[in-house]
Amino acid sequence: MAKALIVVDMQNDFVTGVLGTREAREMLPRLVKKLADIEAEGAVDVIFTQDTHADNYLDTQEGRNLPVVHCVKKTAGWEIVPELQRFTKRAQVIEKKAFGSTRLPSLIKRFEVVEFAGVCTDICVVSNALLIKAFYPEQRVQIDAACCAGTTPEAHREALNVMRNCQCRIINEF
Ligand SMILES: [Zn+2]
Repeated sequence: MAKALIVVDMQNDFVTGVLGTREAREMLPRLVKKLADIEAEGAVDVIFTQDTHADNYLDTQEGRNLPVVHCVKKTAGWEIVPELQRFTKRAQVIEKKAFGSTRLPSLIKRFEVVEFAGVCTDICVVSNALLIKAFYPEQRVQIDAACCAGTTPEAHREALNVMRNCQCRIINEF
């Protein structure tokens, strides 16, 4: 069964940087293990997304609502976290300018199962999971809850519930 893992926005700014959270840092070792297992087995395609903003971030709608400059292209905060860098070598890395990626649907079309991990559960993970559900209602979409982190623990749980209600399968919830 063809499966893809989408690792959402695991960039320095969302883990240790300006928008970092303790939950993202605590989740990281679990994601490292997951990717190491996938690498060993070689059966799952991995796609990393990278939140990508320009110098005009504060003039965008996202910037007006969240006036914290982050993930400006080519800055240190924009880079994938060091712990995951080695896994990007055999993966696809795609930049995205919005919460959801308009490129993702065509990239994951051929997979029967699309799994999500990364941050933030309540913004970019949920945006992309529901985007895929809209494009491909017959595709199985699942979320590895143990390898996601939200803006707050409560927001993480709420987003998991929203995705569960929208018939995404939630795995490894604790
Ligand atoms: Zn952003």
